[in-house]
Amino acid sequence: MKTRIKVLCADITTLEVDAVVNAANTRLLGGGGVDGAIHRAAGPELLEECRRLGGCPTGEAKITGGYHLPANHVIHTVGPVWKGGRSGEADLLECCYRRSLEVAAERGLTSVAFPSISTGAYRFPVEKAAGIAVRTIGDFLSDHPRMEVILCCFSESDRDVYRNALERWEKQEASASERE
Ligand code: ADP
Repeated sequence: MKTRIKVLCADITTLEVDAVVNAANTRLLGGGGVDGAIHRAAGPELLEECRRLGGCPTGEAKITGGYHLPANHVIHTVGPVWKGGRSGEADLLECCYRRSLEVAAERGLTSVAFPSISTGAYRFPVEKAAGIAVRTIGDFLSDHPRMEVILCCFSESDRDVYRNALERWEKQEASASERE
């Protein structure tokens, strides 16, 4: 089965999509990593809009304009900080992907690019995160035939991890549909 998920190695701030997802923090007032890059590229208007949102809980997602980005919107989601894996981190990460896609679908957006949420400063192990990302996005897309997703990695090694996770998931889906 050919999915509508593409894995790239790129700077997410350069992508021309309906929405880029930001791996933000609960205050939504900017930060380091991909958050800093998105705010720098979007310009100060983004921070102004974010201030009016009043923060965002972990696992949730909120949408703003994209301002000077080529993307029309930014969907801000807050990933879990990795604390060893027994604090609900996997469920919270799944929630980030699902809620971001729900917010995009509510607005009728059809192309969404995600960074590798939580695997930078928040230290979520990337292999585990990639499996959760691919499964959650894949399940969502099977009910939303017009949507497409880019998984935008920032290193070639992360790109390989996400590509492997995608291949594994596609194989599983193919053999599950053969059994049906
Ligand atoms: P978190 O706090 O959720 O871990 P980080 O921003 O620290 O978020 O890291 C998440 C991922 O985003 C990391 O893999 C990091 O390398 C990547 N990243 C950083 N800058 C960019 C960028 N401009 N485009 C895409 N990914 C980026």
